Amino acid sequence: MKQTNKIINQAKEEGRKTLLETEAKTICKEYDIPVTRFNLSKTEKEAATYAEQIGYPIVLKIVSQDIIHKSDVGGVIVNLKNASDVASGYKKIIENVKKYKADAKIAGVLVQEMAPQATEVIVGSIKDPQFGQTVMVGLGGIFVELLKDVNFRVAPLTAEDAKEMITELKAYPLLKGYRNTPPADIDALVAILCSVSRLVMDNPEIKELDLNPIMAYPKGAKTVDARIILE
Ligand code: ADP
Ligand code: MG
Repeated sequence: MKQTNKIINQAKEEGRKTLLETEAKTICKEYDIPVTRFNLSKTEKEAATYAEQIGYPIVLKIVSQDIIHKSDVGGVIVNLKNASDVASGYKKIIENVKKYKADAKIAGVLVQEMAPQATEVIVGSIKDPQFGQTVMVGLGGIFVELLKDVNFRVAPLTAEDAKEMITELKAYPLLKGYRNTPPADIDALVAILCSVSRLVMDNPEIKELDLNPIMAYPKGAKTVDARIILE
């Protein structure tokens, strides 16, 4: 895959191990993993133009090799509803980041489509020293953090493997729809797991991948944040 190779090689050349969100999401797109629409702005004016093209509401995020957990430093602002929100949000993000690290290397501010809230799913991968590339799935929030309700499987995955990883989650009934929670599109999640499996098998230099969160809709799913770490 052309773009994926290019991005990974460039990071290597620059001695970077963590890919930027823009890079991780470009790779996801190349592997047919659905992501929120995005465009990297370098100025407030550019941000406003991109926001107009993508459509409101908008999310702004810092893109910097020095910042891995963006929201921890005030580097994510959601639900911006118009051009003046975007202008002030842009300034605020830069200000927050500078406060955190005065000399942070800033690639720009990512303007992206705001994904409507839904059941949050996490898909990841780790390169196990013994088993190699291993894919993970779980539900977001307390399910992963508190209940450790996640399933792992060694890649490559077949569609059946991926489906089992999902149906064997303790929280699976929630994905099927429960009370106020509408059912999630299981096939869309299976497809994402299979794509992640292909991606990490094709690129053995990927040490960790983290799609967190993915919004799981009754029809389709959308990756809101993507992180890729190289060896
Ligand atoms: P980080 O994990 O680096 O702090 P995220 O990109 O995950 O940053 O953003 C933090 C949170 O903001 C996400 O978990 C999600 O709840 C929300 N968020 C981020 N981007 C979007 C988006 N495009 N649409 C909707 N919500 C978003
Ligand atoms: Mg995140």
